[in-house]
Amino acid sequence: MKNDFPILKQTIYGKPLVYLDNAATTQKPQCVIESINYAYSHFNANIHRGVHYLSRVATEEHEKARKAVAEFISAKSEKEIIFSKGTTDSINMLAWSLSEKENFLQEGDEIIISSHEHHSNIVPWQMLCKRKKTILKVIPIIDDLSLDIEAYKNMLSHRTKFVSIAHVSNLLGLINPVEEIIRLAHEVGALVCVDAAQSAPHIPINVQALNCDFLVFSAHKMYGPTGLGILYGKEDLLNDLPPAEGGGEMIDHVTFEETTYNTLPYKFEAGTPDFIGTYAFHSAIDYINQNGKIAQISKHEAMLTEKLEQSLLEGNYSGASIKIYANDLHKAGVISFNLFNKDSKLIHPYDVGMLLDRQGVAVRTGHHCAEPLTHLLGVPGTVRASIAMYSDEDDIYSLIKAIEKAAAMLI
Ligand SMILES: *Cc1c(COP(=O)(O)O)cnc(C)c1O
Repeated sequence: MKNDFPILKQTIYGKPLVYLDNAATTQKPQCVIESINYAYSHFNANIHRGVHYLSRVATEEHEKARKAVAEFISAKSEKEIIFSKGTTDSINMLAWSLSEKENFLQEGDEIIISSHEHHSNIVPWQMLCKRKKTILKVIPIIDDLSLDIEAYKNMLSHRTKFVSIAHVSNLLGLINPVEEIIRLAHEVGALVCVDAAQSAPHIPINVQALNCDFLVFSAHKMYGPTGLGILYGKEDLLNDLPPAEGGGEMIDHVTFEETTYNTLPYKFEAGTPDFIGTYAFHSAIDYINQNGKIAQISKHEAMLTEKLEQSLLEGNYSGASIKIYANDLHKAGVISFNLFNKDSKLIHPYDVGMLLDRQGVAVRTGHHCAEPLTHLLGVPGTVRASIAMYSDEDDIYSLIKAIEKAAAMLI
């Protein structure tokens, strides 16, 4: 499979590239790269507005991509798929829209997120709470770093209006029990958004089975282009929400006094959409489906994640010890760890990352846009290795060898 990804054939500082930063972004297969070239070369024209041939082709391709996304997450209808700029944009749009919805949020109402959230699923809610004088509550963690579901149960009340929760933590790789979280929220009448940025590439998603009200993810984390994301919402809920942005395409009729809005999904897509990006994303979804779909990919990745964790634990680090966060719990493609020297002092993750880079191994270090969770771990950051469908045992072997060398220099 690596042959399909031109970037992976490179050498870095004369060493073969070992790319293990897939939770930050994934590489693109040749077919996705070529699809961008193809779209610009063959049907570049603004969509929906033109009667001419190219505009019709562009519109058809854009809508076919929407259909492919709807099928990918088993949505009931394409109307429920809104194209955005990414997960961050989707959450901001949603938070804005909810705050503009009449009679939805009253002062003192509560919104719940969890300790596992990416900044994208924290800050927009903080901003909303400031605007609406609502209260942001955070599900704590227990000793093994998983979410404290008992505490969550106690948090829920008639004041809970909205819950927004990461399906998979981008720092720990932990898979959160979103089904249960959604069910419990619905019991008190709250709506739920699932941040699937880190799960959509790794776990089959069925929004109808999950019964989530909203779900968001990014194309670039699943082999598609950057700058494109999805906001899924149940049709009746999206119909009830005011648009988050105004402009072209999202309107029905405009006068200087008043504007009526377009139907779904266009109501939420102001301005010219990234129709080249949606075409490329369609190509990425096709590529995933041709390679056994997420169900198959998920099995391969689960095997590899386990192997990665085991190999990390078995490495020889010249007397340094390794700590894997949320060790032993089931993870999806992401492992965070740190090295400690003989006096149990943290070897700074940045130093480890730099020495890995020198050996051609790309990992991420730092707080991974989850600073509050990093603080809970009691460290300034972690080293994070994250895999994708093209990762293999050679990558793991190279990573371990590189950490062993780095440890020998840093101990
Ligand atoms: C990456 C990520 C985001 C943000 O995605 P963008 O593509 O940067 O908008 C949000 N949540 C999680 C869990 C992520 O991993």
